[in-house]
Amino acid sequence: MTCVFCSKPEIKAREIISNDLAWAFPTNIPITPGHILIAPKRCVATLQELTAEERLAILSLADQIMSALKKTFGAQGFNSVWNQGVLAGQSVPHFHLHIISRTEGDAGVLGYDPRSMLYRTGDREPTSEVELIKIVEEIKKTL
Ligand SMILES: [Zn+2]
Repeated sequence: MTCVFCSKPEIKAREIISNDLAWAFPTNIPITPGHILIAPKRCVATLQELTAEERLAILSLADQIMSALKKTFGAQGFNSVWNQGVLAGQSVPHFHLHIISRTEGDAGVLGYDPRSMLYRTGDREPTSEVELIKIVEEIKKTL
């Protein structure tokens, strides 16, 4: 897989802000106008490959970008997510955190609700406590 973030000059040209280890830029297929990607400068695909310093650098930019999106687009909330692994929809093999600004009424226009796309599509009933505890136990086994 070729990394477009590293190979396409227009991506670097879209830089909004950067620090020593990461940079932020708008995605070319935005869900809302304030849909920003934050990526480490080093080309690695997963959270596990990021150093502690890179993680901090990414979150520091997320903080700055969120403040900016409040002022720029009147953001009232945010969805922040990264897709990791091809199976999960990662289309660029270079880690990137999505910061999606949200404003009242935008879902009606854009139909974006992460929950509807992720877990139990169409089923909004709460998961049972029994099932939740099973999940907790499964995750704890791997810690
Ligand atoms: Zn890359």
